[in-house]
Amino acid sequence: MAKERACRKCKAVTTGKVCPVCKSSDLSPDWSGIILVFDTEKSLVAKTLEVKTPSKYALKVT
Ligand SMILES: [Zn+2]
Repeated sequence: MAKERACRKCKAVTTGKVCPVCKSSDLSPDWSGIILVFDTEKSLVAKTLEVKTPSKYALKVT
């Protein structure tokens, strides 16, 4: 199973080589916490994190 990495720019979590949200390849294997965002319009978490694309996000990326 591929290890999940978190984007340093937008915190999206992916198993791919590039971020599915912002297309950045600046991914970190060191991250913690996970948030699932389905509805960016209604989600308070999405507003707090300023995410605009439904995806999986890390709470903390180092
Ligand atoms: Zn990203």
